[in-house]
Amino acid sequence: MAKRQFKAESKRLLELMINSIYTNKEVFLRELISNASDALDKLYFRSIEEGATGVSRDNMEIRLSVDKEKRTLTIADNGIGMTKDELIENLGTIAKSGTFDFRKSHQDENTEIIGQFGVGFYSAFMVSDKITVKSRAFGSDEAWRWESSGEDGYTINPCEMEGCGTEITLSLRPDSEEEQYSMYLEPNAIVGLVKRYSDYIRYPIAMDIPQPRLKEGSETEYELVAEKMTLNSMVPLWRKPKDEVTDEDYNEFYKSKFMDFNDPLRVVNTSVEGMVQYNALLYIPGNLPYDYYTRGLRKGLQLYCNGVLIMENCEELLPDYFTFVKGIVDSPDFSLNISREILQHDRQLKVIAKNLEKKITSELTKMLADKREDYEQFFRTFGIQLKYGMYAEFGAHKETLKDLILFHSMADDKLITLKEYVEKMPEDQKYIYYACGDTLAKVKALPQADAVREKGYDVLCMIDDVDEFAMKTLGTYEGKELKSVSEQDLGLESQEEKDAMEKKIADNKELLEKLTALLDGKVKEVRLSSRLKKHPVCLVSDGDLSIDMEKILNAMPAEQKVRADRVLEINGEHALFAALTKISDDDKLKTYAGLLYDQALMIAGLPLEDPTAFSNAVCEIMAASV
Ligand code: ADP
Repeated sequence: MAKRQFKAESKRLLELMINSIYTNKEVFLRELISNASDALDKLYFRSIEEGATGVSRDNMEIRLSVDKEKRTLTIADNGIGMTKDELIENLGTIAKSGTFDFRKSHQDENTEIIGQFGVGFYSAFMVSDKITVKSRAFGSDEAWRWESSGEDGYTINPCEMEGCGTEITLSLRPDSEEEQYSMYLEPNAIVGLVKRYSDYIRYPIAMDIPQPRLKEGSETEYELVAEKMTLNSMVPLWRKPKDEVTDEDYNEFYKSKFMDFNDPLRVVNTSVEGMVQYNALLYIPGNLPYDYYTRGLRKGLQLYCNGVLIMENCEELLPDYFTFVKGIVDSPDFSLNISREILQHDRQLKVIAKNLEKKITSELTKMLADKREDYEQFFRTFGIQLKYGMYAEFGAHKETLKDLILFHSMADDKLITLKEYVEKMPEDQKYIYYACGDTLAKVKALPQADAVREKGYDVLCMIDDVDEFAMKTLGTYEGKELKSVSEQDLGLESQEEKDAMEKKIADNKELLEKLTALLDGKVKEVRLSSRLKKHPVCLVSDGDLSIDMEKILNAMPAEQKVRADRVLEINGEHALFAALTKISDDDKLKTYAGLLYDQALMIAGLPLEDPTAFSNAVCEIMAASV
């Protein structure tokens, strides 16, 4: 029989198809299995519509088989099958989807049919150089054999076939250096692909797999016997009725799927019906992923469309600050592009992402309220992301995140929320105070917090780089301004105290000006401090850029370094200040001013400009004092 040609545009599409639509050749199996599943669904609906007897869902299945000698892989189904015309129509025209037409005419039914673009079938040419399709349509007693070696067209001839359905046999391409097509003859590889892409197809995907069995009459000798096995689990965990799934099931699924040794801290199983339909099974892990140190956190959820995996890592479903969330989303609603691999900017996807964000926020809020220990464990591992989230995009998400953030309380020595801080604020306290440093021990020892602590106010300790940036972005919480203990005005003094300070400054004006001049180029000003109570000196900054922010910004790779306006504060009540007022020798005063500045630098965690000079000066004073 003469070869029939593919339609002209189909030829070009087929070339394109084979070479570029799919990035991953192995997906051909997913496509053929999805087609078989659709064919079974169609037969099932047809039998319901026509009341045909003899069709039962129980007998429906997809069968895979290999012939190593002939290098063939066969995918067979006992579904609706195709007539001769349908074979020509559906397989002779690329991008013609019989399934799409079926979908259109069955819109109201709750079908879970997958195909719609009419190209999936041709993906088989990526791995095979000849495809043979035998098919017998339901209700017909003719069977047809369609065969094609790709671009040069196809033949169609009558053949024999028992029962309705379709049998697709792929003659695999010869192995090359880049591609080992023989792998598709290995049961292990096939099982792996089915598990990966088609585990939740609702019909059994069966295959004869050699299993070791004791030889008859022997107690020690084994032989390999082919045994029919079902490769897929069929019903995805997230679609099972909730009362049939135990916590254990959810945890085991998480551990095997996301390769964690520990149970997750929280499981969220949600399904939404309505304008947008989806099931989502989300997990909040308690520890960093196993590959964190090589890959960091990878954002994304697995995306399924009607139980078929279409994307391993769909980033669009999660905001950056929830990158730690693992899980899957299954929806019949996505408008997939032809390869099923890349989702176009999909409105549905955006709606789902928004819903998931809300759901995750509310679950974290619940966890904070009812499982505090778990939450703190979670926060120690992933909290930094939430803090980055507050700061990112000019604070666009700060309202969502502000109540999920914890900081270490200096007064209570434990993690608290901003809300908890505000609740225990004494009535006269106006601001929320925080202090920054590299470690908790250093922050707790900061002289700058003296006055605030003496008033009986708590101070939040900030030790992550992002903390102060996040605080500046947040600005206020419940109407209370957030204030660093290093800021110019801490709002702690009464009018009387202010007056007394003014007087003291006026009395020591000359000394302070002299010190400022001696430290010219290093500090903007030397001032008497109202924040120091026990300690003699500290360094603070004038303006919006704090010394801690300066440190962080300068640690980033940038040409231009920033510098905060430094102010050296001296405790006017300290014995040291009294000593300074008595120095008449200018050289001595210069050495002392330098030493005070160096000490303030050390307390602030900044490097000394000349450590040797510092050491020499201290030793000289030590030697003279004995
Ligand atoms: P899609 O599945 O996106 O519609 P395909 O190129 O994979 O596109 O398939 C084209 C058409 O061929 C399908 O829409 C369907 O009508 C038909 N078809 C493919 N495989 C089978 C099968 N196993 N049984 C019955 N019909 C099939």
